[in-house]
Amino acid sequence: MKRRILLLAGGQSGEHEVSLMSARSVLGALPRDRFDVTPVVISKEGRWLPPTETQKALESGAAPTGGDLVLHRVASAEGYDAVFPLLHGPMGEDGTVQGLLTLAGIPFVGSGVLGSAVSMDKVMTKQVLASAGIPQVAWRLAVRREWQRAPQAVEARAAELGFPLFVKPANLGSSVGISKVSAAAELRPALDLAFSLDRRVILEAMTAHKPREVEVGVLGNDAPIASPVGELRFEADFYDYETKYTEGLATMHVPADLPPEVSERIRETALRAFRALDCAGLARVDFFYVEETGEVLLNEVNTMPGFTTTSMYPKLLEAAGYGYSELVTRLVELALEER
Ligand code: ADP
Ligand code: MG
Ligand code: MG
Repeated sequence: MKRRILLLAGGQSGEHEVSLMSARSVLGALPRDRFDVTPVVISKEGRWLPPTETQKALESGAAPTGGDLVLHRVASAEGYDAVFPLLHGPMGEDGTVQGLLTLAGIPFVGSGVLGSAVSMDKVMTKQVLASAGIPQVAWRLAVRREWQRAPQAVEARAAELGFPLFVKPANLGSSVGISKVSAAAELRPALDLAFSLDRRVILEAMTAHKPREVEVGVLGNDAPIASPVGELRFEADFYDYETKYTEGLATMHVPADLPPEVSERIRETALRAFRALDCAGLARVDFFYVEETGEVLLNEVNTMPGFTTTSMYPKLLEAAGYGYSELVTRLVELALEER
C-alpha cells in the first residue's frame, strides 16, 4: 500500500527560499509507486497554505500571504503516514514543528524535539558536546538582558577569548548576523547586530589559523552511518552569507583531500555527536580542520541541512552509495521505523 506523505516546506525563517528549492528536488525524487506526496508550503507568516497556493509558491519560489493557522491544519495532517518537515532554521528545524507533530502522533523525518532544539542552539550544542569530550573552540554565552544592563560583563567575557573572535546569534543559520571581530572596538556593533536577531548570543574564539571547512553526512536512527568527508573551499575571509549563496564563490569537494587518519577521526566524531545530541534520521555535522595544528574542531550540527540535488548533504550521501531518490526514500523509512 502506498504511504501518504506530507511534505512541509518554506517556513518562517530566513531560509524559506532555500527550503522551497529543497522541496522541489525532494518532490521530484520520492518514488510515486511507493509514496503519495502532498506538499504544503508554510508562508513566512507561519500559515499553512492550501493546495493551489502551495503550488504557486513552489513554482514561483515565493509564498503568497493567506492560508490557515498551523493548529487548524495539523488536525487534517492526521491522515498521513509520515511528515517530511523540510524546514530550515527557527520555527522548523528547532523542535517547534517537531513538537506539534509529536503531539499530533504523526511520525516524521529527522530529529525529535530534543535533538532538534539542542542542535539548533549553538550554545546548548557546545555544552552537550563538551560533556561528551568532543573538541571545539572556546566559547562564552551572553543573553540580551545582560547586554542591555551590564555590557561591561559581556565585553570582559569577550576579552577572555581574545581577538579575533566570532559573534553569532545562537539560533540562526546561513551565517545571518555573524561577525568576525578583530579588535575590541568592533565588538559593540557585532553584539548589537546579533542581539537584534536573537536573545542568546555566542562568542567564539577563532581557530588558531583560517580553518579548512569539512562536513560529514550522518544517516540512520540507532545505528547511523557516516558519509565520506566533504570540503568547502572559498576565497572569502569566512563562509559568510554572500559566499554561501552566490553561485561560483564556493566549491564542494567530495571526498575531501585529507590524511586517512584525519578523515576517520572526523567521521567517528560526527557519529559521537549525532548520538550525544539525540539526533535521528539525518544530520550534517560541520567541522573546522586546522591543518597547521592537526586539530579537528566540531563547529555545528544541522538537523535539516540544505536538500537540493546539488546540496552538500545529498552529495555526501551519494559518495556513501545513496542516490538522491534512494536517500529520500530511506529517510521516510527511517521516520516510520520504531525507535
Ligand atoms: P551558520 O550556522 O550560520 O552556518 P557557523 O557557526 O557555521 O554559522 O559560522 C559560519 C561560518 O563562519 C563558518 O562556516 C566559518 O567560515 C566561520 N566561523 C564561525 N565560527 C568560527 C570560528 N570559531 N573560527 C573560525 N571560523 C569560524
Ligand atoms: Mg548552521
Ligand atoms: Mg555553518
